[in-house]
Amino acid sequence: MGKPFIAGNWKMNTNYRSALGLATGLVEQLKGVDTVDSAVCVPFVYLQAISSILSSSNIALGAQNVFYEGNGAFTGEISCEMLKDVGCTYVIIGHSERRHVIGETDAVINKKVRAAITGGLLPIFCVGELLEEREAGKTEAVVSSQVRKGLQGIDAERVQAVTIAYEPVWAIGTGKTATAEQAQEVHAMIRGLVAELYDKGIADRIRIQYGGSAKPSNTAELMANPDVDGLLVGGASLKTEDFSAMIKTVA
Ligand code: PEP
Repeated sequence: MGKPFIAGNWKMNTNYRSALGLATGLVEQLKGVDTVDSAVCVPFVYLQAISSILSSSNIALGAQNVFYEGNGAFTGEISCEMLKDVGCTYVIIGHSERRHVIGETDAVINKKVRAAITGGLLPIFCVGELLEEREAGKTEAVVSSQVRKGLQGIDAERVQAVTIAYEPVWAIGTGKTATAEQAQEVHAMIRGLVAELYDKGIADRIRIQYGGSAKPSNTAELMANPDVDGLLVGGASLKTEDFSAMIKTVA
């Protein structure tokens, strides 16, 4: 396992003023913390401004989506090059809200993961089952299919750019966190699958984040699992105190 990696996903929240305030507060709170990789994935329109604020810190910048084409007539879309241009290191791809609200397919997500790697971004590639899939005993089948399809055509060298985020959909924004055992079970399955698709060395090194109502009070318990290498945090990343407390707990 590499350095733990905690990323915040602000989703479609904040405004110009609150976004800058949040970023400024995090820089202040996380001064000198360098044993954890951290990132904030912010709305497109605030990337440039937040990039300047984060430049004096160890906190990396990420986007929440990217398009797979390089440029051209794709109204409303944003390319990897544009994200690099404004200082992004990471990009979230295949978040459950994009899969289930916007309707992104595994095939589209795979194109985006590949484009991100080619474009020099580090994808945070999200997978996770719906509540009815878990209740029907299909968690492993659903998650492993998402992992296989999302990583299709990506070779062993390139896959090392990827962080996988396991986010059970029923735990996202619901206040219902997966238990440490539930998270560990799926993370171990994902790591085993990466070993099967690539090799054990890559599987040992790839970072697998948990996401789904992670907060300061459950950070230590989730992170104590051997296969949980980090967290992808929604709601709690919108509060300077909470997000910085989570990173300090892990540090
Ligand atoms: C997320 O947005 O990826 C997420 C996990 O949200 P929350 O922490 O609010 O459940």
